[in-house]
Amino acid sequence: MEENLKDKLFNKKTNGWINLNEQERNDIFNFCDGYINFLNKAKIEREAVVEIKKMAEINGFRDLSTYDNLQPGDKVYFINRDKSMFLAIIGTEKIEKGVHIIGSHIDSPRLDLKPNPVCEDNGLAYFSTHYYGGIKKYQWTTIPLSMHGVIVKTNGEKITINIGEDDSDPIFTITDLLPHLAQEQMQKTLSKGIEGEDLKLLIGSIPYNEEKCNEKVKLNILNILNQKYGIVEKDLVSAEIELVPAFKSKSLGFDRSMVAGYGQDDKVCAYTSVAAMMSIENVKNTAVCILSDKEEIGSVGNTGMESHMFDYFMSELLNKTGENRVNLLDKVFCYSKMLSSDVDAAFDPIYASVSDKSNSGFLGRGLGICKYTGARGKSGASDASAEYVAWVRNILEKNNINYEVSELGKVDIGGGGTIAYILANKGVDVIDCGVPVLSMHAPYEVTSKYDIYSAFRAYQAFWNA
Ligand code: MN
Ligand code: MN
Repeated sequence: MEENLKDKLFNKKTNGWINLNEQERNDIFNFCDGYINFLNKAKIEREAVVEIKKMAEINGFRDLSTYDNLQPGDKVYFINRDKSMFLAIIGTEKIEKGVHIIGSHIDSPRLDLKPNPVCEDNGLAYFSTHYYGGIKKYQWTTIPLSMHGVIVKTNGEKITINIGEDDSDPIFTITDLLPHLAQEQMQKTLSKGIEGEDLKLLIGSIPYNEEKCNEKVKLNILNILNQKYGIVEKDLVSAEIELVPAFKSKSLGFDRSMVAGYGQDDKVCAYTSVAAMMSIENVKNTAVCILSDKEEIGSVGNTGMESHMFDYFMSELLNKTGENRVNLLDKVFCYSKMLSSDVDAAFDPIYASVSDKSNSGFLGRGLGICKYTGARGKSGASDASAEYVAWVRNILEKNNINYEVSELGKVDIGGGGTIAYILANKGVDVIDCGVPVLSMHAPYEVTSKYDIYSAFRAYQAFWNA
């Protein structure tokens, strides 16, 4: 009797793998094969846009500019400067009744090249870098790095760079001091042991000997780049080249229950939301998917969520459905609902002391929901209302989707933010949710396949609500 009352009253947090049948396990593993494949092709935001555009076009989505008028059921995408993207399926209800938005980001922490990156020091050639987003710098040394991005010449020609992913490609790396000579370095704190200026990428060591000059190794590298891409050193000032881990995403564990890979923050939510959008046909409220850039450095700039590009996209939907009138967009936002889909910190037993176990996300328990983000006194938090949390819970519980509601770390330890507040500021009801991650922002992040599939199902249910 007592046992039954406990079952009824306690918020039971169960491992999602328990009670799954063979078919359900297979669905999870098959879905995550697609996800791993996506991670390997889409290491940077520009590549994510290319891959998502392919997925969208296969599934009947068309560039918004090709439509003069939009009807219920129409599927559109909008690409912003090759780095961020919005998709929508027009609903049977008018847009002014509110849209259902899922928003994630496709940029991830990494190392960017400086504008004048090439240098030579004692017979070794380097690219100097400026890290992007919150990284632990020591994690980025002595691992294979690949080079992704674009170089744009003054005539507008754009050269796409992808070196280090193919097995026949060379890779690059950043060296670190041998332990034998590191007594002094080892006394420093982790944040000082490797400094920003030390993150210099080793790119070559053969001198160009056919000319009498200094910096022969640098010259040789520039000669190789000139022969391969037709560029000179100055062209690197109009380039965006990102260094990311060259290793591939893989299944992790003897039981293959997890995914290890670079850039899962936040491509795990980008992929699951796009996959969910590809799987739905008719929706009542217009379904909108946001894939934003620059989240890791504050959502700034014209490809970040703070920009007016999203308002422009929404206005175009209103124009093309023939609904638009003065100030209507403000009303649309006030009647809209959003899942800000970004990763959550998973409880790590090795570092248990930073988390309140009762309010932490765990691998394998399903979708992680954060009612509020922020840090130390909820500073900067986007805090979902009780009413909206209940609405979201209802959808998840009706569809038997496991979820847990958590906070990012102990109250005074730290915290984080997402794009949630930006949409909340426009009047949208927003809640943070996503997939819990171990080693977030590290070159190799870990997620649970159960949670990934739960996110996919949750996003489907949200758009179908
Ligand atoms: Mn994120
Ligand atoms: Mn992040």
